[in-house]
Amino acid sequence: MASITYIDILKKLKQLKDPDSSRDIISLGLVSEIVIIDGKVFFSISVPPERAEELELLRQTAEKMVTEIDGVSSAVVTLTAERKPAVREKSSSSLLRSIDRKRPGLSLPRPIEGVKHIIAVASGKGGVGKSTIAINLALALKENGFAVGLLDADIYGPSLPWLTGLHRRPRSHNKKLEPLEWYGMKLISMGFLVDKEVPMLWRGPMVMTAITQMLRDVLWAPLDMLVIDMPPGTGDAHLTLAQQVPISGSVIVSTPQNLALVDARKGLEMFMKVGVPILGMIENMSYFIAPDTGKRYDIFGHGNVRLEAEKRKVAFLGELPLDPKVRATSDEGKPIILAVPDSVHAMQYRCIAQIIMKSL
Ligand code: ADP
Repeated sequence: MASITYIDILKKLKQLKDPDSSRDIISLGLVSEIVIIDGKVFFSISVPPERAEELELLRQTAEKMVTEIDGVSSAVVTLTAERKPAVREKSSSSLLRSIDRKRPGLSLPRPIEGVKHIIAVASGKGGVGKSTIAINLALALKENGFAVGLLDADIYGPSLPWLTGLHRRPRSHNKKLEPLEWYGMKLISMGFLVDKEVPMLWRGPMVMTAITQMLRDVLWAPLDMLVIDMPPGTGDAHLTLAQQVPISGSVIVSTPQNLALVDARKGLEMFMKVGVPILGMIENMSYFIAPDTGKRYDIFGHGNVRLEAEKRKVAFLGELPLDPKVRATSDEGKPIILAVPDSVHAMQYRCIAQIIMKSL
């Protein structure tokens, strides 16, 4: 079954006109809360309460139109009474509310010229190994002959300079930045553009501008895949990315303990909410094998990410053990897949890359 995205639904609903104004319901900002789960689509159409009855036909038509999209098994559309913004702000999930509020007025995400696929690697919490996984996965995809780029979207805490040992500034060419070349990949990070010791005290809008520039004003083309190492959390940067460019799929990284999973779940929900397909979840620091005895220790627990993936009906991509070599090779600027190509980690990354290639 073809996997549907939020954009497919928006495109379809753009053909549906509000009977009163003859403008389409997307431009009017009436559609919100689109959720796609396993081919089932749910969304709301906001209407003034006094028009609810006469707009029942509009609701049914919207449901029928979305069900016709290839890959949609069913659609459930609800009419919701228009709410005042002040009420929305007070909602417990203000970020998701703000996605909804911003969504209708937005233009559709625009591809980056010459870039075929964008893959987001995300986690709820920092420190779970997201950047380590993003760079190793990018290298594993590159090993398959693809032209791969890696964008470090963590504006406040960029990690690419440390993971690669590169501390050069990219050159500019006709007002565009040339990404740094490293083991045949193209790289950009805020860490290459600012002094490493200067703290970043940027406000939200500046972060969004910086991310937009790293997407649009960098000479990425031609690329088969652009891997984006997302900042931790589910904040403005994620929203900017999901709204600006069509993300082919996201990979959610978590360690097995509940504290990390709670936030990973939020990341997963955010991507689902904005219609970004979930490629799957990875459990990092899944277990530890003592090098002297060969005994296995489940330091942070084990298997919870797989269970979560099953519960959410998304793919489980694999588990990576805790291994001091990963930290050591990272710190030396040589990711494990390059430093120890026959390690368990390197092999796992190659398997995960295969699954992702098939999914794309
Ligand atoms: P995040 O991007 O989620 O903040 P990082 O990739 O920067 O996390 O990883 C945090 C630290 O954990 C780094 O020092 C990294 O080398 C280390 N690390 C990541 N994965 C593993 C692992 N499987 N085994 C041992 N150390 C790891």
